[in-house]
Amino acid sequence: MVHGQGGVKFQNWAKTYGSSPELYFQPTSVEEIREILDMARQRNKRVKVVGGGHSPSDIACTDDFMIQMGKMNKVLKVDKEKQQVTVEGGIFLSDLNVELSKHGLALANLGAVSEVAAAGVIGTGTHNTGIKHGILPTQVVGLSLLTASGDILECSESINADIFQAARLHLGCLGVVLTVTFQCVPQFHLHEVTFPSTLTEVLNHLDDHLKRSQYFRFLWFPHSENVTVIYQDPTNKPPSSSANWFWDYAVGYYLLEFLLWISTFVPSLVRWINRFFFWLLFSSRVENINVSYKIFNYECRFKQHVQDWAIPIEKTKEALLELKAALENNPKMVAHYPVEVRFARADEIWLSPCFQRDSCYMNIIMYRPYGKNVPRLNYWLTYEGIMKKYGGRPHWAKEALAVLPTLSCGHHLLSC
Ligand SMILES: Cc1cc2nc3c(=O)[nH]c(=O)nc-3n(C[C@H](O)[C@H](O)[C@H](O)COP(=O)(O)OP(=O)(O)OC[C@H]3O[C@@H](n4cnc5c(N)ncnc54)[C@H](O)[C@@H]3O)c2cc1C
Repeated sequence: MVHGQGGVKFQNWAKTYGSSPELYFQPTSVEEIREILDMARQRNKRVKVVGGGHSPSDIACTDDFMIQMGKMNKVLKVDKEKQQVTVEGGIFLSDLNVELSKHGLALANLGAVSEVAAAGVIGTGTHNTGIKHGILPTQVVGLSLLTASGDILECSESINADIFQAARLHLGCLGVVLTVTFQCVPQFHLHEVTFPSTLTEVLNHLDDHLKRSQYFRFLWFPHSENVTVIYQDPTNKPPSSSANWFWDYAVGYYLLEFLLWISTFVPSLVRWINRFFFWLLFSSRVENINVSYKIFNYECRFKQHVQDWAIPIEKTKEALLELKAALENNPKMVAHYPVEVRFARADEIWLSPCFQRDSCYMNIIMYRPYGKNVPRLNYWLTYEGIMKKYGGRPHWAKEALAVLPTLSCGHHLLSC
């Protein structure tokens, strides 16, 4: 008999959304999940499955039954010939990365963090960057779903092909994702080069940058022309690192958080912070080499609010310049750094923001220094207006006002 716990409080990673599920389950087998679904049917309850709980929106929240898949986290099969791996939906990518490297394999692309579950990370269409690379669900070649009726549905390009294109980005709505099969690549090292530039230079030479580096992205520092360009490319060189605790943590974390907190009383300080920290931390060239997942992943230190829409790639310049102009024309509106700009190849996944179009993702951020919410409504609305104007499609995991159905001041912590 499967046991459900009462009184559990769920909170997402950023502690921006949470819920109190009536019963919280951590099943260890398919049979146990079937029992939970039976119970839910009998009691007329909805069921939500949660992976790593990293989604910045309330997409994983429920007050009914919550299934946490952390105990269904095994690697089921490694097919060395096809370079494919089949895993249980609850495995964290941080564990999968290590397991794959034991077999000389890796995922071709990863988001910023790996403390996310295989089924969860694809469920919202997580992406990284690289115009030859699709969002993470494009690496999925098969999966199995346990539907609400208790049936198991296998799907891939050749079996239940329609359901496959829906389930690769499933939003947690199509059933419990039991297993996922990923197409892998041979293990590789990445050489990361970070160097300063300007918004004008990067936007005027976007195509060159996209061609020059396989995993090109850039960070724009709002209220300025400053940009950090990041190139990441496969290399045969051994690991080397220029990490420095003092600059990375003492300055880039503790001092920054303190100053961001001060700026909640003097918002205009944000302009100065963005310029000062660019000069302090990002104005010289830095290089790192390591195994791919250690370069793809980086530490996201601050709890934060984020929005991230995908627009047609050819609109990158216009949209970003419009956002810059909006900030210049509205002195009361402040924006934390960085605006992270990434790219992804078109795909055929029904709910993908990149469905049938090469895309630019523009991620805006407002930190929560010491857990304090910073007003962001104007910035959020201005950004969304620009994204919509250019045909934007919101990231499913993030905090688009357009897709949060019950958003109101206070209720969802949106400081007005
Ligand atoms: C610090 C940080 C960094 C991030 N970096 C990036 C980034 O670089 N790029 C990017 O695109 N996104 C990024 N994100 C967003 C993140 O990748 C997504 O929110 C992702 O979906 C989180 O995976 P998860 O396992 O935590 O999923 P959860 O948030 O737990 O769940 C996501 C969805 O999947 C469903 N689900 C989970 N498991 C199952 C299952 N077994 N069966 C059915 N449904 C299931 C849930 O119901 C929910 O709908 C970041 C988030 C944080 C907090």
